[in-house]
Formats: sequence, structure tokens, C-alpha cells
Amino acid sequence: MIRPIMACLDLEGVLVPEIWINVAEKTGVPELRRTTRDEPDYDKLMRGRLRILEARGLTLPDIQEVIGAMSPLDGAAGFLDWLRCRCQVIILSDTFLQFAAPLMRQLGYPTLFCNALETDSSGRVVDYHLRLPDQKRASAEALRRLNFRVVAAGDSYNDTSMMLAADAGIFFRPPEAITGQFPQFPVTHSYEELKAAFVKAGPLEP
Ligand SMILES: [Mg+2]
Repeated sequence: MIRPIMACLDLEGVLVPEIWINVAEKTGVPELRRTTRDEPDYDKLMRGRLRILEARGLTLPDIQEVIGAMSPLDGAAGFLDWLRCRCQVIILSDTFLQFAAPLMRQLGYPTLFCNALETDSSGRVVDYHLRLPDQKRASAEALRRLNFRVVAAGDSYNDTSMMLAADAGIFFRPPEAITGQFPQFPVTHSYEELKAAFVKAGPLEP
């Protein structure tokens, strides 16, 4: 039985810029720049972010305004169109539906699995909800059980469990420190290189 190819893509750093870093810059709240690289405990990081938003009086509409002015990375939409012509594509992201929406519009509304924020009637972000623990890995495993050949591409530590669970993994513009730890994954720096890596790993039509 031939297994069709399923491409699983990370969002931030692969198709769009880092959302929290942009929010930190545009709102002038540098504390929001902290990422999982500074605080590996995700829940601690998110609780901290929610406290900062509360203290600064930043609501979801404020953040969405910042995100609405963001664009996908140069070439991302073209790359995604190219890939969607050749295989099924699902974006697996640790971001939130409410953050991703303005960027998904610019990418032609690809399928996105991610998390959700909870707000009150005034738009304050009161909580966050992970759809599943380690959903990137769980999704890659589940898609393989559905008889897809999964090829996963990501840029950072939160993608490695997905890449390890997939049939093949590809790095896109990763931090240097990570590549030595996972020498089995090819490293790409441009969308042309990423296309070539997918063509090889799929295999897909060039
Ligand atoms: Mg990323």
C-alpha cells in the first residue's frame, strides 16, 4: 500500500516571524520577548506572559492589531502554495488560534492545529488552553497511523519531537546549537533549499 505524503510544518520561524517577539517590539514591552529558550517550562512562561499582559492592560484586540500588521516571511506564501500542489499539508504550531488568524488569511487559510486563548467579555486574556500535550509529536504519530508518510519541517527545539516521530525531518533556519544534536536532519536556509529537501524526503515532484 502506497502511503501518501503528509507535510507537517511549524509556523513561527518557518512561515511567519516569531509572534511574541513582534508583539514585544510593537507594544514596547520587552519582557514579552522571553521565549522557551529563556524559560523551558512552557506553563511558567505562559503564566508570566498573561501576568505581563494584565499588568500592562494589553487585551487580545491590542495584540491582534499588532499581529494584523505582520506579514508572513518573504517567500513563505509561494513556498506553501508550491507544497500544497504536491502533497497534503498541516501546520502544527504552539501558537494560538486567535494569534494566527490574521496570518492564516495571508497564507490562504491552510489547515492549522494549534492552541487557544480564553478571554473575558472585555478582551482580557484570562487563560490559555493546550489542545493536547506535545501535540506536534502526537499529530505526527497519529498521521502515520492513518497511513501517511509524514515529512516534518521546523526551526527549533519544540519541533524536534515532531521531526523524530515523523518518517523524515528537515530543519529550516535553525539556531546553530541545535543542529549538532540532531545530525540526522538536513539543514535548509532558503525556501529553494526547503523545497529540494521535501522533493528528496517525500519524494515529491520537483
Ligand atoms: Mg518555530
